[in-house]
Amino acid sequence: MTPSLPDGGAAAADGAAPTADGAAPADGGAPGRAPGPRHARRSPSPSAALPLLPTRELIVFPKMVAPLFVGRQKSIQAIEAAFNQKTALILCSQREASVEDPGADDIMPVGTRVSVLQLFKLPDGSVKALVEGQERVRIERFESTEPFFLVSSTPLAPPDRALVRCRSLARRVAAEFADYVQLNPQLADEVQYVVSQTDDPEEIADVVAAHLQIDTAEKQALLEMESTQERLLALIEALAEENAVLAMEHEIVSKVQQRIESAQRQLFLHEKLRVIRDEIEEAGESADEETAEYARRLAEGRLSPSAHKLVERELRKLRQVSPMSPEVAVIRGLLDTIFDLPWGKLAPADVDVAAVARHLERTHYGLKDVKDRILEYLAVCRMRAEAGAAGGRGAGAAAPAGADHPATILCLAGPPGTGKSSVAQSIADALGRPFARLALGGVRDEAEIRGHRRTYIGALPGRILEGLAKAGVDNPVMLLDEIDKLDSDWRGNPAAALMEVLDPAHNTSFRDNYLECEYDLSRVFFIATANDVEGIPHTLYDRLEVIHLSGYTLPEKLAIARRHLIPGTARDSGLRRGDVKLGRGALQTIVRGYTREAGVRDLERALRRIERKVARKHLEDGAALPLTVEADDLRAYLGEAVWLDAELRRTARVGESLGLAYTSDGGEVLTVEAIVARGRGELVLTGQLGDVMQESASAAWGHLLANVERDAALRALLRRSPHLTKDGLDLANQDVRVHVPEGAVPKDGPSAGLALAVAMLSALGRVPVKPRVAMTGEITLGGRILRVGGLKEKLLAASRSGIRTVLLPESNRGTVAELPPEVVGRLKLVYVDKFEDVLPHVFGGRLAPGASRPETAVGRSTDKVAPPSGTLSHNCPPTSASRERRR
Ligand code: ADP
Repeated sequence: MTPSLPDGGAAAADGAAPTADGAAPADGGAPGRAPGPRHARRSPSPSAALPLLPTRELIVFPKMVAPLFVGRQKSIQAIEAAFNQKTALILCSQREASVEDPGADDIMPVGTRVSVLQLFKLPDGSVKALVEGQERVRIERFESTEPFFLVSSTPLAPPDRALVRCRSLARRVAAEFADYVQLNPQLADEVQYVVSQTDDPEEIADVVAAHLQIDTAEKQALLEMESTQERLLALIEALAEENAVLAMEHEIVSKVQQRIESAQRQLFLHEKLRVIRDEIEEAGESADEETAEYARRLAEGRLSPSAHKLVERELRKLRQVSPMSPEVAVIRGLLDTIFDLPWGKLAPADVDVAAVARHLERTHYGLKDVKDRILEYLAVCRMRAEAGAAGGRGAGAAAPAGADHPATILCLAGPPGTGKSSVAQSIADALGRPFARLALGGVRDEAEIRGHRRTYIGALPGRILEGLAKAGVDNPVMLLDEIDKLDSDWRGNPAAALMEVLDPAHNTSFRDNYLECEYDLSRVFFIATANDVEGIPHTLYDRLEVIHLSGYTLPEKLAIARRHLIPGTARDSGLRRGDVKLGRGALQTIVRGYTREAGVRDLERALRRIERKVARKHLEDGAALPLTVEADDLRAYLGEAVWLDAELRRTARVGESLGLAYTSDGGEVLTVEAIVARGRGELVLTGQLGDVMQESASAAWGHLLANVERDAALRALLRRSPHLTKDGLDLANQDVRVHVPEGAVPKDGPSAGLALAVAMLSALGRVPVKPRVAMTGEITLGGRILRVGGLKEKLLAASRSGIRTVLLPESNRGTVAELPPEVVGRLKLVYVDKFEDVLPHVFGGRLAPGASRPETAVGRSTDKVAPPSGTLSHNCPPTSASRERRR
């Protein structure tokens, strides 16, 4: 039964197929409540005979509106008679729905008097009507049976309708019905509203009975019951039963729902669990495989006893912890580090001195002394190894670990680009050993050398072990690059850790914090490099055998470029040797105009730049190879020349002298300026001069002041000075200001004393200093000129910068004699012992007749270019060199 709307039209309007039996369609069509005013039809008296329509499976209760589909002729005539005569109609249910032409006996005795609200004739001859129940009636008599039934009836009059009990039962029915509507999805909420709007027990009983989804016989029984109480009780029973069934149905549905949901959840969880298990198994399997691999490597027996124990312990741990544990990564990290180390694996350890000599000769131009020192060192290594083998275990036996190494370590010291690291690499190549480079510049954390403790997150082994792991053998050549740049702070002293690494007494059992077991470093061939020996920590310095590489002369640079740099840079640029030809003087112009360095790094860079541009020209513009680059073309390739010889003045100037400085980048020509200006009689020094340089300036100034009266040469120079009085210099209202340009660069050292004194004297006497004359020497208050260091670099710088004459201390004569002739080159060397010796060479003709003349010897170098060579360390002892250092 479909829920009906209050006017009952929905069922009819639904267009449900009419049935030929004159009753409602199988689903019956739901009765609805009749709208009040519309059924104001005249009711026949109870005794009047009314047409009767027998229904099949349809019971209409009072107050209900229901659609009727009538197909049987007798029934059509009955309903038409009622409708046309505006009388009521009696609806009575057939006893047997299947009887097609029922007689009086086939019709139930109790039915419902209804009014026919609407009647439609359908095309097939059947009729669709809308009827509204008025009251229950009992058939008294069949007045006629043809052409349709005509019956007289009496209304059923419930004797207990007004009883209070009935009202209370009715309320109960209403309450149960409310539940029923709630539980029954086929009933609209409005139905319950209809019930709630009345308190007449009979009406409630009728509405509820009409909507109860029970079979026709039960409905007929409810229709026939005379007593309201009885009807209400029957309804309560039926509702309770229906509600219980519906509630159970609900429960079952929700349980089924829950089950489905929980089954789905279970399925989901099981699936998830299965995936997790698979993952764990996979991890476990790979973990097992890895553990087995570690165990296999351990069984190879290469590890030291302490490392063996450590690995066993870590493997036990690895087997115990869950593969998902973060500890696994830590353990694996350690095991991988341990197994990456060479543990006794050695490259051929023979030292073939002659082979190394040949190789160094092939790879490096010049550096004769450096090569000699290296070969001597290697010869000692070889002898020690042989002595160790013979003395220790008899002929043929291997030398004990580290026995072949002298107690000192080679340290190549010199400015950048002079070939320190490439020489070390060459040694490794010649010895046939892997090469490992450790850049120590800026290392201030001890852990970088010795490793971090494993308790730190992200702990790593130190660089020494890292280098060994990379080299893959225990005896590589290991370059400790820039040990002078090691630093130290609160994170420890890396130099101390390095000491342990280099000390033959300790390095057989070097302990890295990360590894926590000892490792033998005694077979490593360490070579250190430094730019500035002064920067090397003292403790380390004692362990080193320092070999100085002091920078190349112009001819050396040209030869290095032709023989070594150009083939390498051409190859790197994808060109063949000879694809770029440097025209006459081009290479020299590159060296002089575009680089100013002790080494050849910038030169190498400049060559690469040229080659890159040539490669592009060839590809883009189709320039034919080989391509010749002339000196004049260089501007197009390298831009404007950076360093021009012309930069040094060629004309004499007042108050300006040229000093020579030694820096870690090589030598440099230093301009010193002095002026006399209105002031308070002070010596003012600017240009970031260090303490020693300031003291030098004071000493120079003191010497001038003290000697101006008695030294004829000085007086001659100052004769035009407005400050010279017969009592000496009057500088009460004047300052002497001295400045060393490139003020941003700190400078220090005593060797500028001579240049400072000359600049001051020139400014005071307004006498110009000769151009292209440079000088180096410490000056005392008494005017003596003292020995200085770094002469090779200074002289090279002087040559590079176009200086013609260099004044230097007499006491350095011996040093210069040891220098290769090409260092002096075309320089005119003037050795001076006292300040007055200097004057004729810097002021020339300005000196008064009779003033002192140079008595000292003048060295002139030969024009011939001799084979270049490096210099020995004692040419530039670290202490004096550092004192000359300009930073
Ligand atoms: P450093 O370590 O002193 O800073 P490098 O060893 O890195 O200098 O040298 C820089 C470049 O100069 C390298 O390509 C190197 O081969 C080259 N070089 C330096 N000196 C020479 C030399 N005497 N003979 C051949 N090439 C050299």
